[in-house]
Amino acid sequence: MSESPLPPHENESPKATTKADYPFDGADMGIVDVILLTSDGVQFYANKALLSLVSPVFMTMFTLPQGQEERKRKGDTPCISVEDESHALFHLLSWCDPRGVPSMSLNAVQMALTFADKYGMESIMRRIGRTLENSDEIAKQNCFEWYAIAIRYNFPGFAKLAARKSLAFPVEEMASFTWLNDIPTMALKNLYDYHFSCRRVIQAFLGHPTIWRGRNKNSDELHWAPFLRYCSVCFERGRYGFSTPWFIDYMDQLGRVTSQTPVGEKAVDRELITLTMERANRCNSTDCRALQSGILPFAEKLCQQINEETAKISLQI
Ligand SMILES: [Zn+2]
Repeated sequence: MSESPLPPHENESPKATTKADYPFDGADMGIVDVILLTSDGVQFYANKALLSLVSPVFMTMFTLPQGQEERKRKGDTPCISVEDESHALFHLLSWCDPRGVPSMSLNAVQMALTFADKYGMESIMRRIGRTLENSDEIAKQNCFEWYAIAIRYNFPGFAKLAARKSLAFPVEEMASFTWLNDIPTMALKNLYDYHFSCRRVIQAFLGHPTIWRGRNKNSDELHWAPFLRYCSVCFERGRYGFSTPWFIDYMDQLGRVTSQTPVGEKAVDRELITLTMERANRCNSTDCRALQSGILPFAEKLCQQINEETAKISLQI
């Protein structure tokens, strides 16, 4: 950004310019009173009052005298050069302008935050933070990067959401993300602690006799779990007594997976459920075949309960 734009040299040919995409293409000329020219030659048709309202840096910029040549070059509308590239400015202005539809991709948000910070747009940064906190879908992928963003820009609510979503991925994978070098060591330790606490809680939960024997007084719906144990043909001795081998294997497999990724959705993993149902169906006993239809409801309830258990663990910020 050059606060006092210099007119081009007389013998320098003006740089080719193009118009920005909607809503910054000047279609609503009635409200346009300034043009921002990016370093890659794109003109953004903007409104001074709107930008001044959210940015003291823009407010100062608009009060500085403009070069006469710059003014002439664009007719009556003053044109101000900024150092930023057009894609960065587009993402930033999309948050400032009520007509804008901000992109929620990781790169777009990261770019908008970087430039909102640069232009002192505190209200815009708060707006981005609030939007992220309320966007359950956003942090399903790139959770570790979203966590780094949340920490860097001090969005504690979003940091908790991103950390919770990151449970679906082994925290050990985080070491490969260079973004995380930019956040304090304590924030990394907190995320590791959170993951390991959740893993411990779920291991204890899945191994607890209440699930196997159906004596969980807090969960009536899991009471029928021991029903899975009754097969006169294929029973074998499990951790807490006799059960069907396919139920023991289901719980063992779930235990292994959630020891790395303690999320309830692993209980209803399609592959695991299909395999378990096929095995139940292969047993000659009518008991096991009858039990087959109960596997999915049991798994769904277990999914919900696993997530309720990890919801009790809080991330330190
Ligand atoms: Zn059986």
